[in-house]
Amino acid sequence: MTRKYNFCAGPAALPEAVLEKARDEMLDWHGAGLSIMEMSHRSPEVVSVAERAEATLRELMGISDDYAVLFLQGGASTQFSAVPLNLMGDNGTADYINTGQWSKKAIAEAKRYGNVNVAASSEDTNFATIPPRDSWHLTDGAAYLHYTPNETIGGVEYFWVPETAAPLVVDMSSTILSRPVSVDDYGVIYAGAQKNIGPAGLTIVIVRRELLGNAQAVCPAMLNWQTAADNDSMYNTPPTFALYLAGLVFDWLQEQGGLTAMEAVNRRKAEKLYAEIDGSDFYANPVELQSRSLMNVPFTLADAGLDKQFLADADEAGLLNLKGHRSVGGMRASIYNAVGEDAVDALITFMQDFEQRNG
Ligand code: PMP
Repeated sequence: MTRKYNFCAGPAALPEAVLEKARDEMLDWHGAGLSIMEMSHRSPEVVSVAERAEATLRELMGISDDYAVLFLQGGASTQFSAVPLNLMGDNGTADYINTGQWSKKAIAEAKRYGNVNVAASSEDTNFATIPPRDSWHLTDGAAYLHYTPNETIGGVEYFWVPETAAPLVVDMSSTILSRPVSVDDYGVIYAGAQKNIGPAGLTIVIVRRELLGNAQAVCPAMLNWQTAADNDSMYNTPPTFALYLAGLVFDWLQEQGGLTAMEAVNRRKAEKLYAEIDGSDFYANPVELQSRSLMNVPFTLADAGLDKQFLADADEAGLLNLKGHRSVGGMRASIYNAVGEDAVDALITFMQDFEQRNG
């Protein structure tokens, strides 16, 4: 068996050691005579898996008891609705920063539930920048400020945390667990699992407890964070297998040395890939230097006529899923935690070789 290098933006590569462990435990979890996905979510076995996953995540991210950790379904996209439903109140206003396709989707959903003020947008730079903090037009008394710390499609990442009066609500889908963050800076952190957490099907919400209990009357029970918190994320059946796998990923992250260690590797990976792109006239990345994502690296070929050939040759070389998002074209290498430095080295070697043959 040869596993190939997978640069998919999501569902993304998982650590091989995690897949092996899941394989070994698949038919008979810890001597129970059943697989974990065949057990009641209320069984002591599954409850222990959920508790352990939460405890390890709290340790990895430094999440205090002031925050509830919720294991939900529906993806980050469902949270685009849950956020305003839980936080906007009736007649409230929320501020949003628009830095790309995912911000836009969050904004479109929020508009259904209340007043949305787009306080700043980088659409005029084709989402290659982050609007500087002093250009934001924030609302006095806003219920919250929402932004997207890493735009998965545009490859734009904030390396700073804005200071605001309103609680910060962030869609960390594609940057969570890639480096340490100070959870206390945020009111709510949410993320779909299928990048740095585990398989698709699980969504994580980390919410400051004092923000709970303010949901709009129309908020469905399934989207109400208070309901989830009161029921230890078991108001209905949670995605037990995805949660189990996420727990294994959290254990793996601990074994790697935690998020500080991950950040060091992730910075090295990104730096060498951007250096390769910048060092050649054949490849280009449009994002302003200080906002280049550590996780998603979009790049174009000077001659877009070579795109198809690039992808075909990359496939042949065992480098998969490098096609850029359909909305922007070109290429994108997603280099999440489970994509090792060896994968990035192989990609760079391939890019150099392709340039030599076609440049
Ligand atoms: N936000 C961001 C930043 C994303 O990258 C994605 C998925 N690529 C989403 C939201 C949507 O996530 P989901 O498919 O889990 O709803």
